[in-house]
Amino acid sequence: MTTPLYPPLPRGELSGEEAEDVKTCPFCKSDVEIKKISHVHKWGDEYYLFENVKAEVCRQCGEVFFSPEILKLMDEYVKGKKSSEKTVCIPVIKMPDLAVA
Ligand SMILES: [Zn+2]
Repeated sequence: MTTPLYPPLPRGELSGEEAEDVKTCPFCKSDVEIKKISHVHKWGDEYYLFENVKAEVCRQCGEVFFSPEILKLMDEYVKGKKSSEKTVCIPVIKMPDLAVA
């Protein structure tokens, strides 16, 4: 069985139609399920919150995968071709460096 592998968050330049369906996680080989999630997309210093994003989420490790068309759509929103519905303020909290046992 070959698993089409594409990185979790590639940036832009998606042209091909390859890797349409990810059925297993390339990292842990577990099943993925299609879910609607909220996703924060970082673009430079800006963050974009996408809601109702169709994604494939690994049942085991929680890794999230987006189809090329979803990534392309997110790119279009980020680049301002499509306007957002609302803007929310996101508190940014810098966590202290804790010694992790
Ligand atoms: Zn996984």
